[in-house]
Amino acid sequence: GSDVDGTDCRPRPPISFELFPPRTDAAALALGRTIDRLAEVCPAFISVTFGAGGSSRDRSLTVLRYMLEHTDVQPMAHLTCVGSSHAEANRLVREFLDAGITSFLALRGDPPSGADADADAGIRDLGSAAELVQLIHRVQEEREPFGQSGIPGMPGATRIRERPRPERVAVAAFPTGHPRSRGLSQDVDNLLAKEIAGANLAITQLFWHADDYLAFVERARAGGVTIPILPGIMPVTTPARLARLEELTGVPAPSELAISLEIEPDADAQFDLGVEYAARLADEVLAGGAPGLHLYTFNRHEAVLAVLDRLGIRTPAQLTTERNTRQR
Ligand code: FAD
Repeated sequence: GSDVDGTDCRPRPPISFELFPPRTDAAALALGRTIDRLAEVCPAFISVTFGAGGSSRDRSLTVLRYMLEHTDVQPMAHLTCVGSSHAEANRLVREFLDAGITSFLALRGDPPSGADADADAGIRDLGSAAELVQLIHRVQEEREPFGQSGIPGMPGATRIRERPRPERVAVAAFPTGHPRSRGLSQDVDNLLAKEIAGANLAITQLFWHADDYLAFVERARAGGVTIPILPGIMPVTTPARLARLEELTGVPAPSELAISLEIEPDADAQFDLGVEYAARLADEVLAGGAPGLHLYTFNRHEAVLAVLDRLGIRTPAQLTTERNTRQR
């Protein structure tokens, strides 16, 4: 996968992954190994979450830098703006651009827990993800001095960009509605506002039924959204985690999976159930036209790679073996 854009290595459809920054040195070490395994399937990018309020800024940057230095994978930085002043958000975006990050997932983030959610407490200068999308583009343009090409002996050298523009400015989408949304049309309008602000990719919150995703995409297209909408899918392999996800996302867990995980005592069999459910969901959304798959990893490679295996999406190692066999 050392070719520039990885085209002979990257699996089709495009795959991407999400990680969160580790909290301990031991977890950081394990995450390095996870990233190495994920990188082997040549994902289009791997995104790293960001604690609202900047609590994970340094740890997120460490993971993103690891990817830049040790893999060919494009790192994508989640950034949140809730509670930030313009000046703070500006500094944050600059810092990530300086570190060499060119892909972002721009989020509003949630006001700190304990704050009165209805009063939009904790929102300062930047109140929505759309404003952060604009800010990322603005900061990038400001720091893009069209410098001289530096080719010796070339008078009037062509003016070139010093640094690449942000490759991806992604935003969140909510197929079953944001917990605070007044209705799905508001979610579509909000996504459109983010596209107009300059987003070029949407990544969805978890959903459990292919129709939720496919119907949302249809509504979004009817509402004027044109950017790709990547389905976010997570293989969930324990009943406790499924319950926790419902709490965190506000998206009701599918009772079919909840019950089968609950009555299955064997951990390996639970793993298979979770992988099977996610693979079926992935298969259905791809059949319905999804432009790729964004897999939530929970910082483990086993389940997401098992989903890809079940879908028949080959790893480069498998492809190489196949090519060698054919050549013989
Ligand atoms: P926005 O798009 O700004 O929307 C927030 C709410 O405001 C919505 O209800 C929307 O309908 C409403 N709204 C926005 N604009 C308007 C308007 N003009 N008029 C009326 N209503 C409006 N959180 C983190 O803290 N860190 C992460 O790393 C992180 N990663 C995530 C990744 C994905 C793929 C997803 C789906 C979510 C992630 N979140 C993360 C959670 C996210 O921060 C919360 O869901 C947050 O509540 C909303 O963020 P947003 O970017 O969707 O906000």
